[in-house]
Amino acid sequence: MTKPLNHRLAVYTGTFDPIHYGHLDIISRGSRIFDQLIVGVGINPDKQPFFDQDERVELVRAVIRPYANVSVRPFTSLAVTFVREAGARIMLRGLRTTSDMENEFTMSLMNLNLDPEIETVFLMAKEEYSHLSSTLLRQIATFGSGNLEKFLPREVKDALQARVRERQTGKRGV
Ligand code: ADP
Repeated sequence: MTKPLNHRLAVYTGTFDPIHYGHLDIISRGSRIFDQLIVGVGINPDKQPFFDQDERVELVRAVIRPYANVSVRPFTSLAVTFVREAGARIMLRGLRTTSDMENEFTMSLMNLNLDPEIETVFLMAKEEYSHLSSTLLRQIATFGSGNLEKFLPREVKDALQARVRERQTGKRGV
């Protein structure tokens, strides 16, 4: 039997490879809108991640501690399937730029098609985080430049720099 749907519960889905302050801002604001927020850490079959799914979940877990109503879970299905299985009917997403807009618009229409009971709710990125992406942060860490503290919580920055060193010294497969 499917669980009853709850409009006070939302699921923020993404890859979070790794989580950064732009994501955390959406989590913080989402936690004020909804009674409960689940961060769903998924798998992107088109991308080879820097951190495996368990590591990404642990990094999210470490930085959501201040938010009593936020939890984290991994998922391997389609995001919309995970949202329903979690008993939610709201998928939370963040929007940075007009290019995000195109992708997110297409994705939300497809999700609505797959499960018309689930709505995607968007929060606009704060100006100071609107340039932040996990891809850029992985590149900055790889080339060893930039002040990563501005963009990432300390434990995430340390993990990212350690992962870059492992990849560069060949201690871990790429
Ligand atoms: P995905 O691979 O699903 O795009 P991400 O982990 O990159 O996952 O992002 C998850 C969600 O967070 C997406 O909705 C994305 O648009 C949003 N997001 C990413 N970076 C930021 C940011 N700097 N500010 C606000 N939202 C963001």
